[in-house]
Amino acid sequence: MFEYAPAPESRDVVDIKPSYGLFIDGEFADGTGTPFKTVNPATEEVLAEVATASQADVDRAVRAARKAFGAWSALPGSERAKYLFRIARIIQERSRELAVLETLDNGKPIRESRDVDLPLVAAHFFYYAGWADKLGYAGYGPAPRPLGVAGQVIPWNFPLLMLAWKIAPALACGNTVVLKPAETTPLTALLFAEICRQAELPPGVVNIVTGAGETGAAVVNHPDVNKVAFTGSTEVGRIIARSVAGSAKKVTLELGGKAANIIFEDAAIDQAVEGIVNGIFFNQGHVCCAGSRLLVQESIAGDLMESLKRRLSMLRLGDPMDKNTDIGAINSAEQLARVRELSDIGEAEGAERWSPACALPERGFWFPPTIFSGVAQSHRIARDEVFGPVLAVLTFRTPAEAVEKANNTAYGLSAGVWTEKGSRILWTADRLRAGVVWANTFNKFDPASPFGGFKESGYGREGGRHGLEAYLDV
Ligand code: NAD
Repeated sequence: MFEYAPAPESRDVVDIKPSYGLFIDGEFADGTGTPFKTVNPATEEVLAEVATASQADVDRAVRAARKAFGAWSALPGSERAKYLFRIARIIQERSRELAVLETLDNGKPIRESRDVDLPLVAAHFFYYAGWADKLGYAGYGPAPRPLGVAGQVIPWNFPLLMLAWKIAPALACGNTVVLKPAETTPLTALLFAEICRQAELPPGVVNIVTGAGETGAAVVNHPDVNKVAFTGSTEVGRIIARSVAGSAKKVTLELGGKAANIIFEDAAIDQAVEGIVNGIFFNQGHVCCAGSRLLVQESIAGDLMESLKRRLSMLRLGDPMDKNTDIGAINSAEQLARVRELSDIGEAEGAERWSPACALPERGFWFPPTIFSGVAQSHRIARDEVFGPVLAVLTFRTPAEAVEKANNTAYGLSAGVWTEKGSRILWTADRLRAGVVWANTFNKFDPASPFGGFKESGYGREGGRHGLEAYLDV
């Protein structure tokens, strides 16, 4: 019988250096903090040593950004657009290299970094390049002004995509940037720095400082930073909101989520099953808007669970560099411990735990796709963000009950609705307190569409015309 066994994607396409410095004022420079190691979560192999930016290094980065701001903001929008288009094109040209590096540093399947992350990263730069010379038409008056230096701190789940969400609109509007990537996934941001040089972006317009939370805090709290953009946990978002309170800084926070994916009895079940799998197992569930709470109408719950379990048994977990892999590695030992802990609590609180038979690799950080059924709303598995491949299943009888349960969360980032009835989509979406509502699909992103949360999922919108607002004085 013919067996199809494609070779894993080659890591030779990317040249990983043994050590990396900071990117300040257009140059790579040593950091004065203690360097840290970044590892491949699928193998625990050390990929590289990376500089830590101290307060003094962050000061230098902010000074460089301030110095560059005058000339960059004074450029005609059409000129800034040329740089952004150039960056977008280089990202496309180097996308294989970027995708491989993202997968090695993050643990996500190469199919996802290649087919989802990278095309979206380029799309964001193209999209905001298009806005750079049209800001007067964005509906904010004839001459909206950039804010100055933007301090941007991002998480590890979509390292390059989060960078694109932050840097593309900031630059299009004429701001300059100091960005700190997450400490477990710094490498693609540093490759992006190289791309900025290749695009001949003026020095100081983009600065990348690596390090852990202290470096992030130094960026956010710097007195010469005018705008703070943070994506990460609600816990750190709270710290940041407190620390900038009373300053003149404009702040946007993109925080956690606990999305409900609602399946009505008239939904197309096979499509819904694909949507549930994509909703929670895409990127190992390391997705702020993941459909981590499945709300299924009682009349179809039995059949749906059977189909879902069958589908899960077909998922392939393993080497993220293999093009056939569906589920990659958990990003870090710390995150794995959190996923394990919340899953153990789920079991202890009385929910029924199920995973398909699946062998986990010996080295690296792995967790099997997991479903909890018989979950009550009070269970922590139904309330806390797991940020892993873990689905909590609850049932409902009426549309009103579905909405009530979906909204019974501290978060409000996203939700999904599955039904063949258009009027029910509108009725439900109207009542859900979530920034994004997907209908008969899930985890779909587009640079033209604003994204952001209600309640403890944060405030401000990224993407679309609304994403410009965060970087302009109107
Ligand atoms: P995290 O909050 O631990 O870290 C995020 C970033 O903040 C990292 O770069 C970290 O070094 C930095 N940081 C830590 N402490 C800091 C401090 N005191 N001051 C400034 N910076 C600090 O989050 P994480 O574990 O990296 O990411 C997972 C979280 O991100 C999840 O809760 C997820 O929902 C959220 N997230 C939200 C969105 C969204 O758009 N809403 C998107 C992706 C991820």
